[in-house]
Amino acid sequence: MTTTFHSTRGTNTALSGKMAIRQGLADDGGLFVTDDLGKSRLDISSLVGKSYQATALTVLTELLPDFTQNELSDCIAAAYGEQWLDPSITPLKPLGSDYILELFNGPTSAFKDVALQILPRFMACTTDGNVDAGKVMVLTATSGDTGKAALAGFADTPGTGITVFYPEGKVSEVQRLQMTTQAGSNVQVCAVRGNFDDAQSAVKDIFGNTDLNIELNDRDNVALSSANSINVGRLVPQVVYYFSAYCQLVERGAISVGAPVEFVVPTGNFGDILAGYYAKRLGLPVGRLTVASDRNNVLFHFLTSGTYNRQRPFHQTTSPSMDILVSSNLERMLYYMSDGDARLVQMCMNDLKDWGTFEIPPALLARIRKVFACGWADESQVSQAITDCWKANHYVIDPHTACGYYLLEQMPREAGMPRILLSTASPYKFPRVVGKALDLDVSGGDFDCMDRLAEATGTTTPANLRKLEGADERFTDVIDVRDMPDYVRRASARL
Ligand SMILES: *Cc1c(COP(=O)(O)O)cnc(C)c1O
Repeated sequence: MTTTFHSTRGTNTALSGKMAIRQGLADDGGLFVTDDLGKSRLDISSLVGKSYQATALTVLTELLPDFTQNELSDCIAAAYGEQWLDPSITPLKPLGSDYILELFNGPTSAFKDVALQILPRFMACTTDGNVDAGKVMVLTATSGDTGKAALAGFADTPGTGITVFYPEGKVSEVQRLQMTTQAGSNVQVCAVRGNFDDAQSAVKDIFGNTDLNIELNDRDNVALSSANSINVGRLVPQVVYYFSAYCQLVERGAISVGAPVEFVVPTGNFGDILAGYYAKRLGLPVGRLTVASDRNNVLFHFLTSGTYNRQRPFHQTTSPSMDILVSSNLERMLYYMSDGDARLVQMCMNDLKDWGTFEIPPALLARIRKVFACGWADESQVSQAITDCWKANHYVIDPHTACGYYLLEQMPREAGMPRILLSTASPYKFPRVVGKALDLDVSGGDFDCMDRLAEATGTTTPANLRKLEGADERFTDVIDVRDMPDYVRRASARL
């Protein structure tokens, strides 16, 4: 049980998994990684036929060995219970000659529930019963979905508070209402003037602001932490569904254990797809991981040229959770693909901060491209993909998933290799965009659009979304980016 985590930018301080989760981000601004990843491989045939919860126990034991079996079992039971609409948690369904992995059947109808239902439970284990451990304030910048999923996970969790910042006017009506109506005595939600990257950068600056951190610690006994996918506790639960998807394919008789499978992953902060890479390192036969982007195609540019350049126009698209210029988890991928070259990662990240761009050596790019493919869809292609998927399969997808579906349509199929598209949100979170693509009447509000979508497709609006109509909005603050530290001070004082 000696696995230790350290920063992607240096190897000096070693922390347990619990401490890495509690702290969120390393002191030098890097992300927590462990060099033990993939030292042992999971026996996949032993997972076939197991429940999601049992698979989760095996995978998480490997990734977080400092948690006891009882702790992990309790976290898993509480996180993946009745709040999910499907007993298999992440059901795999056929989609033409491909498959779709539904990750959106949790309490907020977004794939982020998979991680954020369990992260608060992990966090609660990190004090190890120490009553003086103090409180944790989780700070999150959200492009739409993380915010609500984090609020739902952390609301009224003892010893924690949560503050969510979202870019004003850049999330859907449903997404905004999901957040501003959140119940709980320990939650704060605030709109910020700017885009998601502005908010995310400001949150990272707050984490790195030593004076502020000391002030909150001394005054309120509060430590800041993160629920963004930079937190390793947010990342590791996502590894589970890659194993679950694979086993479901085996159980259907589509493959036998050992056969490779491709995954197509709608990508923003690179957390979801990175979890697929972790699964590969743990021995899952992953044939190829395809990064699907929207018009904010900074990752496509990086993976085809080796140059990451955030200095480009920011496009507000119909897939807001993928509207990202700085894809944080790429840093972990660079760390692992360069065999743990923390100096290289440090240099890249310094260049990104100072110049808005960095470049990796061609040999490293070549290695990365053996594992990761990429592509992107503009908004008309997204809309067309929603239409095509409905026409071909009578299956409704949301605009994020549609970026991946578009690539499925474009990519040559490798003979005999099954392809799994990860579906990251319920189409009912974006009823106007989806309705428009399906040629439905989209006059009126989002809730009218939901009702028409349900009627036209014979599907059901998730109850958690339908009940938002007319609900009381508790949070209406709008602030400038520069006022975020003060907002955090006040939220911390109230904890
Ligand atoms: C967050 C999100 C994504 C992107 O996931 P990353 O882990 O940030 O790459 C894609 N689709 C939806 C609906 C999301 O909420």
